Amino acid sequence: MRVYNFAAGPSTLPVEVLEEAQRDFLDYNGTGMSITEMSHRSKPFMAVNDEAQALLRELMNIPDDYAVLFVQGGASQQFAAVPLNLMVNGKADYIVTGNFAGKAQEEATKYGDAAIAASSKDKNFTYIPDMKNVKFRDGIDYVHITSNNTIYGTRYTALPETAAPLVSDMSSNILSEVVDVKKFGLIYAGAQKNVAPAGVTIVIVKRALLGRHKAFCPTMLRYDIQDKNNSLYNTPPCFSIYMAMLVLRRLKKLGGVKAMQEVNEYKAKLLYDCIDSSSLYKNYVNKADRSLMNVPFVTGSEELDAKFVKEAAEHGLVSLKGHRLVGGMRASIYNAMPVEGVKALVEFMKKFELENK
Ligand SMILES: *Cc1c(COP(=O)(O)O)cnc(C)c1O
Repeated sequence: MRVYNFAAGPSTLPVEVLEEAQRDFLDYNGTGMSITEMSHRSKPFMAVNDEAQALLRELMNIPDDYAVLFVQGGASQQFAAVPLNLMVNGKADYIVTGNFAGKAQEEATKYGDAAIAASSKDKNFTYIPDMKNVKFRDGIDYVHITSNNTIYGTRYTALPETAAPLVSDMSSNILSEVVDVKKFGLIYAGAQKNVAPAGVTIVIVKRALLGRHKAFCPTMLRYDIQDKNNSLYNTPPCFSIYMAMLVLRRLKKLGGVKAMQEVNEYKAKLLYDCIDSSSLYKNYVNKADRSLMNVPFVTGSEELDAKFVKEAAEHGLVSLKGHRLVGGMRASIYNAMPVEGVKALVEFMKKFELENK
């Protein structure tokens, strides 16, 4: 029996996609072998690689002067790859809105002057700083933001005002809402939240920014080399790319990112309305900055939180324990979480509140 899995990452995948992968697992497209067993330079795999990229370009409306790369090492590897490739003048500004944003900034200090232009640490990352008030230094190579903060449940609804290239970690909200790629110099995202199983990391980068990497940048981290080789410089994470292709095909069939955004807004509203109308649950995030993907909430009692997580699991609603930095509960409701899953959670929350008055 399938459960409703609210894990923050790796996270739930669409059942139809899992079933299709299962059907094709022993014999992919009449090749007599699994997609995981064939050369990454074979025709069938190259077709998968190309289709995944083409679908991503179509769904996100990515202009031709941007490279789309499928790399490894997770989003965390990009914390280093970004400064190694883009910190041409040795200076970048970071907005720190959570744990991963802080890690990205810290990693960048190894390669240059990576300053914190703004932070929401003063209120335990429960808000996104007002972009109108954030000032950046002259001569910076880029501004780095984290568009959705997976642990704290916040998201950007406005972008920083800067002439420098904008770099965004979109690991937990890529393809969940419409974004204008042209406004960014670089977007990166680990796949394991909204796109595919862990293993592949998506990098979308303006080609004009390439080729100016630091001399000591590892070959594998060079965007220009990955671009020239169509992400096949070495063996890629073939299975994850194949799964990404299936997920992207499904997303296209469902009407694309705009249609998905509408469903995501609906799901998030169901959950926030339940929290806001209850006297038991609280979400501490500034309302305007609430994430559509990650919804943290608490009861105010650690004991009751633990009881909630345990009893929810008994109802087939799993992985609801909050991140250790925040405590309480967190429901991650990515693209693949069906509306019925959120409705089941809301129903359980109401029942639990009645029983624990
Ligand atoms: C999960 C996550 C990461 C870390 O991703 P890895 O692929 O495990 O390195 C980084 N940033 C954000 C916003 C995330 O949600």
